[in-house]
Amino acid sequence: IFITFEGPDGAGKTTIISMIAEQLENALLTREPGGIDIAEQIRRVILDKDNTAMDPRTEALLYAAARRQHLIEKVKPALDAGKVVLCDRFVDSSLAYQGHGRGLGIEEVFNINQFAIEQMMPDLTIYFDIEPELGLKRINRNKGREVNRLDLENLDFHYKVREGYYILMERFPKRIVKIDASGTLEDVFQKTMKIVLERLEQ
Ligand code: C5P
Ligand code: MG
Repeated sequence: IFITFEGPDGAGKTTIISMIAEQLENALLTREPGGIDIAEQIRRVILDKDNTAMDPRTEALLYAAARRQHLIEKVKPALDAGKVVLCDRFVDSSLAYQGHGRGLGIEEVFNINQFAIEQMMPDLTIYFDIEPELGLKRINRNKGREVNRLDLENLDFHYKVREGYYILMERFPKRIVKIDASGTLEDVFQKTMKIVLERLEQ
């Protein structure tokens, strides 16, 4: 079973996913963009804060390329082996950030991603929802975090991305489940774990 986690930076995705992975026997925890060597190399190019000349379509294509390689090299073999794959971001990030946030169009970005993923959509997607201001505050408190190109975006961009996720929830109401990520880590973890376990028991 393939479970993806979505939402803005500062929602607590990465922390919560590792807590979930610890509770499950048969889980593979991975992330996008990255997760394997080729995709981590692409990630560095995309997120390098000096790459200010990057065109939004180039960005979207690079994310799709990283996604393809990660899916083929790591996710698919794990799914074939019966593992529960927990992935920090997947196709919905591209649709929300590049499709809606950057204004490329959700359909346009979905098209290039369909070429990349060949129908391998997640079985369940958990979307961590949080006010962009609160998310950014949490990020700024995390001093160990390395600055990336996206950190240079303004608040409007983050609102646009959130709006993108809301559009996606309407489009994929069965697959995407929203969790309010404004609470404590323990609270968000409990809610997330409950949804994951319910899906695993189906
Ligand atoms: O979640 P993670 O920290 O790995 O994401 C790295 C950065 O890339 C974040 O700032 C995120 O907002 C951004 N991103 C993006 N478009 C995507 C995926 C991630 O702008 N499709
Ligand atoms: Mg993260």
